[in-house]
Amino acid sequence: MTANGRGRGERGTVLIVEDDEGLAYLIRSSLEEDGFGCELAATGEGAMRRLREASPDLMILDYSLPDMNGMELVTTLLSGALQLPPYVMITGREDTRLAVSIMRQGARDYLVKDVEFLDRLPSVVMRVKKEADTERRLKSAEKALRESEAKLAKAQQLARMGSWEWNPQTGEFSCSDGIGHLLGISPLRMNSITVERLSQFVHPADYEQVRETVEAFKVAGKPFDIECRIVCEDGTELVVNGQGEIEPQADGGAALFYGTLLDITERKRAESVIQQLAYYDTLTGLPNRTLCQDRLRQAIAQAHRERRLVGVLFLDLDRFKSVNDTLGHLYGDRVLKMVADRLCRVVRESDTVARLGGDEFVVILTAVNHTDDINEMAGRILADLAVPLQLDANELFTTGSIGVAIYPMDGDDEQTLMKNADIAMYKAKELDKNNYQFFCKEMNVKIVERLMLEASLRRALARSEFSLVYQPQIDINTGSIIAMEALIRWCHPDLGVMLPDTFISVAEETGLILPIGEWVLRTACAQNKAWQDAGYVKLRVAVNISARQFKQKELLRTVAAVLDETGLEPKFLELELTESTVMTDALEAAHTLRKLKGMGIFLAIDDFGTGYSSLSYLKHFAMDRLKIDRSFVHDIATNADDSAIAEAIIAMGHSLNLRVVAEGVESKSQLEFLRERNCDEIQGYLLGRPLSREACTDMLRAESCSQV
Ligand code: C2E
Ligand code: MG
Ligand code: MG
Repeated sequence: MTANGRGRGERGTVLIVEDDEGLAYLIRSSLEEDGFGCELAATGEGAMRRLREASPDLMILDYSLPDMNGMELVTTLLSGALQLPPYVMITGREDTRLAVSIMRQGARDYLVKDVEFLDRLPSVVMRVKKEADTERRLKSAEKALRESEAKLAKAQQLARMGSWEWNPQTGEFSCSDGIGHLLGISPLRMNSITVERLSQFVHPADYEQVRETVEAFKVAGKPFDIECRIVCEDGTELVVNGQGEIEPQADGGAALFYGTLLDITERKRAESVIQQLAYYDTLTGLPNRTLCQDRLRQAIAQAHRERRLVGVLFLDLDRFKSVNDTLGHLYGDRVLKMVADRLCRVVRESDTVARLGGDEFVVILTAVNHTDDINEMAGRILADLAVPLQLDANELFTTGSIGVAIYPMDGDDEQTLMKNADIAMYKAKELDKNNYQFFCKEMNVKIVERLMLEASLRRALARSEFSLVYQPQIDINTGSIIAMEALIRWCHPDLGVMLPDTFISVAEETGLILPIGEWVLRTACAQNKAWQDAGYVKLRVAVNISARQFKQKELLRTVAAVLDETGLEPKFLELELTESTVMTDALEAAHTLRKLKGMGIFLAIDDFGTGYSSLSYLKHFAMDRLKIDRSFVHDIATNADDSAIAEAIIAMGHSLNLRVVAEGVESKSQLEFLRERNCDEIQGYLLGRPLSREACTDMLRAESCSQV
C-alpha cells in the first residue's frame, strides 16, 4: 500500500486525480464507503506514474490540474502506450461547451463540483463501472467468437465441408468460406452468393431431384439429407452430401433454414471400387458367388411372375487340379479364362455365367419354357467344352461335369437350388464325368448327413463337447497383443475336432446357435476375467456373434447378464458382427449397436469386403473396428485387385474413424504390405494359430513377464 493509496476494494479500484487535497480525501472516503479501493494523484504527471504502476478500473479526473488540464492528460494517454481507463471528468464551473467536448473526447460522464457533487458521485461511479464491465465482457465474448469462427472455418476447410444459412423472412442467404472453397469460388464473390447461383453448380442430371428436395424443404419444412453431383467452378465433378434443417419459430413457421455441404467424392469412389471388386471375379470378370445369388433371386422372381422355369447349371471342370499341378497356376488361370469365354458364348444374353471360385462355374438359364431347353443347353455346353483348348503349342482337353436343378421343381429359393445343383454335379462326377445330371430327391444323401449332424449338435452342449481356442490380435506398430478372438471348436465323438464352418450354419438354421452362442460368450468372458484375476496383462476378448443371435430380442439382456455374472468390465469385450448381420435390418441393428456401445462394449465388423461393403451405411453404426476379410489378405502382395480392395478398405475405415484389422495374415510380405498402408492391427497364422486355453495361458504369462 502506498502513502496515497489503500489498495483494492471489493467493487474495484478508482484513481482520483485531483489537486485539491481536501476534496480528494472527501471523494475517497465517500467511494470507500461504497466498497471501492482508491488511489490518489494530484498532478497529470502523478496520474501517469500511477497508471504505469497499475491499471485501475476507473479514473475520476479533475479538469484543471497544476501541470496540465484533464483533456491534455487524456490526449497524452491516448497517444501513448499507457492504457486509459474509463473516466469521469469533474470541473469547478458549469460550462456546456466544455462539457460537450469532454464527452466527445470519450469521458463516461461529466460532473460539476457543486454542493450535491459528493452525493451524486458514488452513483455515477457505480453506473460507469457497470457499463465498463459490461463492455469488457462483450469485447471478450466477441473476441472468443471471432476466434472460434476462424477455427470453424479452418476445420470446415480441412473436412472439405461448409455450412449455409437462409433466413426465409428477409431472404438473406450466407455461406461459410468452406462452401466457396469446395466449389472453387473466391471468398470475395462468396459475399454476394445467392441460392439460385448455388443451385447452378448442381450437375444437370441431378438438378431435378435436388430442386424437388429443396422445394419440399422450403414449402413443407421437410429436413433433407441427399447426395448429388456438383460441377465446380473449374469443371471438376464432385459428389457431395447436402443436409438441411429448420429452426422453427414459436408459431410453427421456419425462423431459419440452415445446413451443410460435405465432399464425399473420395468415399464414393472407394465404395464403388470395393463394390465392383466384391461382385465380380477378378480373374475372369464374371459375376462372383454374391452376384450370382442375386441374379438367381431375380430370375426366380421373374419366372414366378411369368410361370416359367429357371435352370441352374453347376459346372465343375474334370481333373482341373492336375492341370494346375502339372502346368502351373498361370496355365490354370488361362484355362479358366478360356472356359469362361466359351460359356459366355454359348448362353443367351439374358442368362448369367458366374464363377464361384476354383474351377466351379454356375450358369443361370432364365425364363425357360421347357425342361428340354435346359437339357439341350447342358449338352451344348459339354460339347463346346470338349473342343480342345489351344494353349501356346499345346492342345488341352478339358471336360466338365454338370449338375442341374430347376425352379420350381427342385427348390424355390436360390440357396436350395444352388445346393441341389451342387449335389447333382457330384453325382455326375461319380458317374463317369463329362456328363450332366438332373437333381433328384434320392441324391439327397447330403440332407441325411445334415440331419445326423443336427442331431449330434443338439446333444453337444449338454455333453460339453465344445471348447474355445483363442487367437491373438496384434498392434502392427508396437507388436503387442491387444485382444484375443475366441473361436469355437467342437470335439465330435466320432468325427473328431470340427471347425466352425462345418456346423455354425446348421446351428444357425436350427436355432441351436442361441444356446451355443450364449455358452461361447459366457465362457470367453469368464476366461478373460480369470486371466485378469491371475494378474496377466488385461486384454480384450473378441466374440463372434451370428446373425440369428444378433437379431434375438434377448441379446442385450444376455450380454449384460454375462458381464454381470463373470465380473468382466465391458471394455474388455468386443463383439464381431458381419456386414450382412447388421445390414438386414439396418434401423433395428443401429439401435441395438448403440445400446451395446452404450454399455461400453467394443464392436467390430467382421469379414469386411465380402458383403455389401457399404461404407455409407457403416457410418451410421457405432463401430470401432473393421476386419478386412482374409480372402483379400491372402493375395494382397501379389494380386492387384486384392491389394486395391485392401488399400481402399483401410483408407475408408480410417476416414470413418475405425481401426482396421487384417485377418489371415500368414506371411511377412503381407505384413509389410499392410504396415505400409497404415493398417492398425493384424491377426493370423504369422503371429500365431488359435491357441487352446492352456497354451494361451502360457503365452499370457510370457507376455506379462516381458512387460514387467
Ligand atoms: P472369423 O471370425 O473370420 O475368424 C477367423 C478365422 O480365420 C478362424 O477360423 C481362424 O482360425 C482363421 N484364421 C486365422 N488366421 C488365419 C490365417 O492366417 N490364415 C487362414 N487361412 N485362416 C486364419 P475358424 O476358427 O475356422 O472360424 C471360422 C469362422 O467361424 C469365423 O470366422 C467365424 O465367423 C465363425 N466362428 C468361429 N467361432 C464362432 C463362434 O463362437 N460363434 C459364431 N457365431 N461364429 C464363430
Ligand atoms: Mg471373427
Ligand atoms: Mg473374419
